[in-house]
Amino acid sequence: MRTVETIAGLRADLDAARAAGGTVGFVPTMGYLHDGHVSLMTRARADNDLVVTSIFVNPLQFGAGEDLDAYPRDLARDSALAEGAGVGLLFTPPRAEMYPEPVLTTVSVAEVSAPLEGAARPTHFAGVATVVAKLFSIVGPCRAYFGEKDFQQIAVVRRMARDLSLPVEVVACPTLREPDGLAMSSRNVYLTPDERDAAPVVYRALRAGAAAIGAGETDPAAVRDLMAQIIEAEPLAQLDYAEVVDADSFAVPQPLHGNLRLLAAVRFGKARLIDNVGVTR
Ligand code: AMP
Repeated sequence: MRTVETIAGLRADLDAARAAGGTVGFVPTMGYLHDGHVSLMTRARADNDLVVTSIFVNPLQFGAGEDLDAYPRDLARDSALAEGAGVGLLFTPPRAEMYPEPVLTTVSVAEVSAPLEGAARPTHFAGVATVVAKLFSIVGPCRAYFGEKDFQQIAVVRRMARDLSLPVEVVACPTLREPDGLAMSSRNVYLTPDERDAAPVVYRALRAGAAAIGAGETDPAAVRDLMAQIIEAEPLAQLDYAEVVDADSFAVPQPLHGNLRLLAAVRFGKARLIDNVGVTR
């Protein structure tokens, strides 16, 4: 594995690989890697000749007062995990390489960015869409692998790539979980031991909501209330939202039908955790 810090260096390596007939798989991350990230790299390696992973904590996608400065970092450990997963190029640009000047050009995706995470974090998805557009432009033609853990992010990135005709195929991969159901996340490190014990309530609530729909519930308010009750029964949990939406449009179907996604955001002390599950009816 080669570690590259410059845009020009990365482009040169990837152009050479493609000129030799190789396909490129791309896994963008913010580092502090866990098995969820590794699963994306493993999948990318299975599908492509060369895998590039980026590690960049993108300031544009953090709002004022969020955890940009506290975001965990461990480049030595990340390098070992990426190399073990078959990554060929690790792109670790310094902030000044990605943003040498104040950014005047931003990308924002209407509609799919508006509800849920977009409502809770108003500048977040424009920050994500801007950095991913930039990374797609740097990496060039590739397949790019994203985790369903950030379900709305995939919808935003897919639409952005389509609208801008970027030569990238977006591939969605399943969420990896701890044995007790907690979705793996770099932010789980913020949890105290008591909060860590309480955190699987998010997945339990989502599954209960999905089970209710499976058993015939068609009223979105009833599903929302059921999930909220379960989460609010946990004293260490502070509910941000728990919602059920159409998995493509993010609108709330009334009555519930089709391909649905249940999504929640919950705070435990310093940590804000998100998770989601799918159900069809
Ligand atoms: P992050 O470093 O948190 O920005 O995540 C980088 C990529 O890894 C995103 O596509 C995430 O959706 C994905 N990811 C994060 N957590 C998980 C997980 N538990 N399972 C699968 N993919 C994940």
